[in-house]
Amino acid sequence: MRLFDTHAHLDFPFLRDQIEDVLARAKEKGVEKIVTIGASRGLQSNIDAIAIAEEFENVWCSIGLHPHDAGKCDMEVYEEIEKRFSKHEKVVAIGETGLDYFYDHAPKEEQKFYFRKYLQLSKTLDKPIIIHARDADEDTITILKEEGVRKGILHCFTGSKWMAEELFKPELDFYLSFSGIVTFKNAKDLLDIACGVPIDRILVETDSPYLAPTPHRGKKNEPAFVYHTAAAIAAGKGMDLDTFSNHAYENAHRVFGLEL
Ligand SMILES: [Zn+2]
Ligand SMILES: [Zn+2]
Repeated sequence: MRLFDTHAHLDFPFLRDQIEDVLARAKEKGVEKIVTIGASRGLQSNIDAIAIAEEFENVWCSIGLHPHDAGKCDMEVYEEIEKRFSKHEKVVAIGETGLDYFYDHAPKEEQKFYFRKYLQLSKTLDKPIIIHARDADEDTITILKEEGVRKGILHCFTGSKWMAEELFKPELDFYLSFSGIVTFKNAKDLLDIACGVPIDRILVETDSPYLAPTPHRGKKNEPAFVYHTAAAIAAGKGMDLDTFSNHAYENAHRVFGLEL
């Protein structure tokens, strides 16, 4: 079985400090490739993510700015990210960026401003955008349509059925990535949405070190655990785990432009 963890934060100390072991445990569980997200601690997170991707052959990275930080980062950071990292050979995506109205750590207008900036960057570079959206279904879809972006991933999808269907319509043609939340007992509706996503548009991720799936819920998460997320969706679809994982694996290669 081959798995691709499309979204991990390997630069966070819990994972970074034991990275060799983390990657070895992932490999044991069939996780052959990982994209680490360099967007969650401003500029330094991007620097660290690139360093990890340079060090390990089977790790790639994305660059950007998390919506939580949109109020703290000025244009200088954006320009630095664009200038220093966007052409790097291991950068396969832009993000995570987007809108988070649940935590509301940054003013909505700032979030929207930087969301648009990174969408435009992804278009200029022709790299997929990785979107973080929480309690912001309508604004996210509206902005995506206004910016005319047709290449990307809605990560850790927790939106409505309406949002899911908008995303995989040909007008947007997005990929939807599901995290360990689909394994939680109280997330039956989300699992149903995941099972309704076309098989050529679905991805799996850990979002580690957060959101450990059942049976590790409440503990720190790591890429090896993406296995449980794939197993939950495969079972929900009545599909053999190997077959499902292969589809998700191939989808990840297609969206990131990587060779199989
Ligand atoms: Zn996120
Ligand atoms: Zn994330």
